Amino acid sequence: MENLYCLRCNRELESGQKSVAVYVFAQTVGIRPRQKSAARRICFCPQCSVSLAMGPPPEGALNVAAWQMMRELVSSDPALTSAAWEALRAIDGFLPADETYEGFRRAVGSFLQF
Ligand SMILES: [Zn+2]
Repeated sequence: MENLYCLRCNRELESGQKSVAVYVFAQTVGIRPRQKSAARRICFCPQCSVSLAMGPPPEGALNVAAWQMMRELVSSDPALTSAAWEALRAIDGFLPADETYEGFRRAVGSFLQF
């Protein structure tokens, strides 16, 4: 099975995990024979999707197009933002109640790269 990674943070996305998929393909117009490239699937985790949508526009026309699609998804329904919030909460959920600060640093460090 194909392993998918968030394009922005490189977090592994397991099959069926909440994420945003952007499909990109190119097709010739007005040229015969018509040619169509294979579609590429680009994935973003909910946290990066929300972060991108809330942030300033990126450089580059293609990136701006993707950014506008993210903004459309994030602004049309709170479900994606809710998924990002749940994922953020889960970082705390992994820690036992008596975990030390050092343990917390280790648990979060691999994600945030302190
Ligand atoms: Zn991500």
